[in-house]
Amino acid sequence: MRLLSAREVARSVFDVDYDRLWSMGIRALLFDLDNTLGRRGSTSLGDEARQLLRDLERRGFKVGILTNRKRGAAKGLASALSAEFAVLDVARKPHRAGFSRLLAKLGHEASVAAMVGDRRFTDVLGANRSGIYSIRVRGFRR
Ligand SMILES: [Mg+2]
Repeated sequence: MRLLSAREVARSVFDVDYDRLWSMGIRALLFDLDNTLGRRGSTSLGDEARQLLRDLERRGFKVGILTNRKRGAAKGLASALSAEFAVLDVARKPHRAGFSRLLAKLGHEASVAAMVGDRRFTDVLGANRSGIYSIRVRGFRR
């Protein structure tokens, strides 16, 4: 497998076939933040992104957000989410440590996890190196 190639590509987080992921055995979903769950630099999640994450949790997925933003930069976001979702900042993607720390928080192994993000050199590369199913989205659109 080429490390920069995602296992699948979708237009946005709203276009991923999560039912199929569930039937493949995926139980943990890691999301990038910038240009994936929201516009670059956004300090809160929009209603639709928040609704999507809630819906995924209701369907049984464990959901986490993995971002390379500086420490504290995602804090407002985490509190806006009222700690419903695990948020890990300073993830230093594509390094594997952040991926495994967030998975540990979620209580799942890489083999049942998928990473959804817009960048090959951070999200896709890090997921592929970690044995996490990689999904590249073209960007945030809504
Ligand atoms: Mg991004």
